[in-house]
Amino acid sequence: MSQAHPADLPAAAPRRALLGGAGARRWAWAAAILALTLAVFLLALNAGHDQVRRAARQRLVIAEAVLRAAFDRYRSLPTVLALDTQVQGLLADPAASGAVAAVNAKFEAIAGASGAAAIYLMDANGLTLGASNWNQPLSFVGSTYAYRPYFLDALASGASRYFGVGTTTQQPGLFIGKAVVARGGEGAGPVAGVVVVKVDLEGLEGEWRRAGEQILVSDAAGIVFLASEPGWKYRPFRPLAAADTDRIRAARQYGDSDLRPLLEDGPPDPGGTIRLPSAGRAGRGIVEPVAMPDLGWTLWYVAPTGAAFRQALLVAAATGVACLALAFALAAASQKRRRLRAEQAMRLALERRVAERTHDLSDANARLRAEIGERERATAALRATQDELIHAGRLAALGQISTAINHEINQPLAALRTFLASTAVFLERGDEATVRRNLQRMTEVTQRIAEIIRHLKDFARKTGPGHCEPVRLAAAAEAALDLLRVRLRADGVAVECRIPPDATVRAEPVRLEQVLLNLMVNALDAMRDAPERRLSLSAAHEPASPGDSASSWRLAVADSGSGIAAEHMGRIFDPFFTTKSAGEGLGLGLSLSSLIVRDLGGSLAAENGERGAVLTLVLPAMEA
Ligand code: ADP
Repeated sequence: MSQAHPADLPAAAPRRALLGGAGARRWAWAAAILALTLAVFLLALNAGHDQVRRAARQRLVIAEAVLRAAFDRYRSLPTVLALDTQVQGLLADPAASGAVAAVNAKFEAIAGASGAAAIYLMDANGLTLGASNWNQPLSFVGSTYAYRPYFLDALASGASRYFGVGTTTQQPGLFIGKAVVARGGEGAGPVAGVVVVKVDLEGLEGEWRRAGEQILVSDAAGIVFLASEPGWKYRPFRPLAAADTDRIRAARQYGDSDLRPLLEDGPPDPGGTIRLPSAGRAGRGIVEPVAMPDLGWTLWYVAPTGAAFRQALLVAAATGVACLALAFALAAASQKRRRLRAEQAMRLALERRVAERTHDLSDANARLRAEIGERERATAALRATQDELIHAGRLAALGQISTAINHEINQPLAALRTFLASTAVFLERGDEATVRRNLQRMTEVTQRIAEIIRHLKDFARKTGPGHCEPVRLAAAAEAALDLLRVRLRADGVAVECRIPPDATVRAEPVRLEQVLLNLMVNALDAMRDAPERRLSLSAAHEPASPGDSASSWRLAVADSGSGIAAEHMGRIFDPFFTTKSAGEGLGLGLSLSSLIVRDLGGSLAAENGERGAVLTLVLPAMEA
């Protein structure tokens, strides 16, 4: 029979290699997804930055327009005031009564109406003669601003623009100056003074802050002077040269500012990113500058990139998750495919093995059937031999009692002869009555002979097993005793038969008779030298035991012989065991008897009784 072989199933080693391959593939997938996610992140970030840059440029245009408008609103005001007769009159004669008051009132009114932080007039020495804030505690009147660039520039070139922190008010502002030319007769005279309009741009900063925009304005030196974030103000983009620092400090342009640089290496190129020191919000952003050459300023718009960064991160994460989900789905599908393939291979291997097994089994079955047939034939042969043996045993038993049988037949024959002779005599005498009586007795004698012969024929007949029928124990015992009648008489044996007439067993009659004959012959042999010879037959009914469905009859054949020697007790049922001399016994009687009894479903046992041996036969009872 073939054994299950591991080679029949998908091999384990390739499967491990497969798993190893799957591991490498998994890493490759992970790397690819990571690379893709990174690429998507960078692309999304780039796109986001482009968008931020475009938006920044748009905002920058607006911011520039607003800043320029704030300046433009006041740019012509100093020119107009420089032409004013009252202004010129005051410069011409500062001591004239009412001149200062008139100019003060005028400046105050115009400042109030235009929203300018301050309007004031200086003489050629920089001494302030009149100012819009003449009546305020920090009035400019009487102060000299001759060192201030806006005064010096106006003197030198006729007009000036300057952003700085006011030395009196400490308020920053844009100073727009215009030289006032004294008018004497025809044509322009020498510069008599300078009129200045100070514009407060801090409102603009407030607006930027409220709009959440990051805007800076730097001057020609790169110093931020206007910014949405107060911390960025009065700080250069990059560290200043010492000379520049000194110059700005001397002019007190940005008050007491320490001019700490905003960045270490200056502003980036337009469109680049910048990280500004920031108190609250993230200062990182894309910077877009626009130059305002007429003012010498640069406007910087910083668009924060945090949102673009977060959005890119989100897009990349979504891509990563989608890729992972796709990879998992693909992996699951391929795993399922692999599993199905493996299952199919396994199923095929199993089917192959089952087919082999089935083939092996049917082979074994055929062999088994042949063996059974052989065994049946052997059993039949054995059975036939056994039957022959039993039959031979029976004939042997007959042989043992042949002398008695001979005598049994000879006796009536002799009687018949005597009757015949006497009948002839009585016939001659004409004694008809006696002749008739003799004939009657002769018929009886021939009947007796016929009966004996029939009995012998029956007994010698070949019988097979399976002819079981109800047999009365008493009748069977009687038939056996009948065959032994002569010997019993010759040996002077007293027979005691106590078998209930209704004791019926299931047996094959001739064979049962053979067993009884054997037991009786053995008993007679054992009693040969006994002083008293008594053969006793008794039967008792045995009800069915709990484990046994049928009841039985126990028939005891007891004699008053020598009994069975203790050392022979275990061997008397062995074939060819005999204690008798050659010619007397073959040693087959008990072994064949127990064979017959076992065949009938009963048992045979031997023991020693009070005087001789007791052979007990148990046979299944046959209920009437
Ligand atoms: P055989 O009668 O030819 O010896 P058996 O098988 O019938 O063979 O008996 C075997 C032996 O059992 C006998 O030789 C005898 O020794 C012993 N045996 C049988 N029946 C009795 C008996 N009733 N009393 C004493 N011995 C017996």
